[in-house]
Amino acid sequence: MRVTILGSGSEGNALLLESDTVNIVVDAGLSHRKLVARLAMLGRGAPDISAVIITHSHADHAAHASVYATRWGCPVSATAATLKSLRLRPSVEAHPFIAGRRFRVGDIMVHSRAIPHDAPQVALLFETPLTTIGLVTDLGHVPKGLARFLSGCDTLLLESNHDAEMLRIGPYPASVKRRVASSLGHLSNEQASDLLADLPHTPARVVLMHLSETNNSVRLARSSAEAAIGHQGTQLLVARPREPMELPLVGARQLQLGL
Ligand SMILES: [Zn+2]
Ligand SMILES: [Zn+2]
Repeated sequence: MRVTILGSGSEGNALLLESDTVNIVVDAGLSHRKLVARLAMLGRGAPDISAVIITHSHADHAAHASVYATRWGCPVSATAATLKSLRLRPSVEAHPFIAGRRFRVGDIMVHSRAIPHDAPQVALLFETPLTTIGLVTDLGHVPKGLARFLSGCDTLLLESNHDAEMLRIGPYPASVKRRVASSLGHLSNEQASDLLADLPHTPARVVLMHLSETNNSVRLARSSAEAAIGHQGTQLLVARPREPMELPLVGARQLQLGL
């Protein structure tokens, strides 16, 4: 399964997953024009998309869901609570899923789990016979059982939103600081590192996601995660908010061979 991060953070989130049989876009926070432009930066055109999956209703993840679905003639999948807030165009086919119950799109099995945020929100696992990719962003704290849910991941895309001290002394209004730092806000570098340290098996690859451009730095996020997972064995990457990032193909066998 090929993973391409097209945008990550409050500027807009979208992720492209390409398996042997289907292509899925997860989250629709970039305009269609921007999404096409990000793919073009990688020298790629837009592939046929079979489904759009939305994690939650915040605009940086969901604003363009109807446009994507209309452009690509595909359904939008999300939990019923999220679908209700999305107000999709009537012509768009909505496929609700229940957090905690898996569903299939082509050869990809999608697992979900509710996570704490100030809108109904899910962590997602995308599983094929060769690889499992986890996506966990927009959560205020790590709930019990999340580490276990992620234990089979070989690639983990994990929020590392802010450095708690930078947020505290930074320019945000007090109410926004409180929201970001709250148990329904966003994950700090330290909370992300604690989760990494708690994983029963460290994934072969970790990508730090949804970094704040105001209250974090790549250096701080990276060094915090490195302290949790060590330098050996795990590839650590940091997603850029406005640049696409194509991850090299992964699969259990490829990772074992170190390819
Ligand atoms: Zn977000
Ligand atoms: Zn959010």
